[in-house]
Amino acid sequence: MTATDFSAAGLSITEKIEAAHALFRKWGDRLLKDISVRELIAGLDLKVIASRKAMLDAGILSACRRCEEDEGGSCCGAGIENKYDVALLAANLLMGMTLAAERCFQAGCFFLGPEGCTLSARHTLCVNFLCQPIQKALALDDLVRVQNTIGDEMDTTFLLIEAIKKYIRDRSDTTGATSSTSR
Ligand code: SF4
Ligand code: SF4
Repeated sequence: MTATDFSAAGLSITEKIEAAHALFRKWGDRLLKDISVRELIAGLDLKVIASRKAMLDAGILSACRRCEEDEGGSCCGAGIENKYDVALLAANLLMGMTLAAERCFQAGCFFLGPEGCTLSARHTLCVNFLCQPIQKALALDDLVRVQNTIGDEMDTTFLLIEAIKKYIRDRSDTTGATSSTSR
């Protein structure tokens, strides 16, 4: 994988995690000094909190807890982790998260831990998912409020990933090697 090949298509999730750690080791300090990346990380932290609060207020988190306890089913199934690319995984490291070393639940997503999702910067599929029973149970104004907050979270995640990729691309030559003048 070159410095600018973030999709890492064909790699397993453990290989992508390894690549994200390598990216973080090489670029992490510089990315965390970049004002736009820093602002987007701080912004995403707030958006994640806002989404979680909107879901809590709308009763979604308690409904999901009941679903898991009574029906044994989280919707975070095995295989969803393959939607994640190296940049999105590295964004989690920049946000101070730890990437899972192994799968906790055989039928679950690689990033599903005992307390739920272990990531902060999540794929659109994860952020945007509200199952049909939840959508039907929510009052319209709650549904709109939740959709607006998760829309903000997805937008900020997109901007952060693009900022990370641009920062690295701008400082790498076409072979993926780091420019000697990069700062
Ligand atoms: S989103 Fe729906 S399917 Fe997933 S855990 Fe919550 S209630 Fe269950
Ligand atoms: S929300 Fe987290 S645990 Fe659930 S599928 Fe997405 S990445 Fe996996």
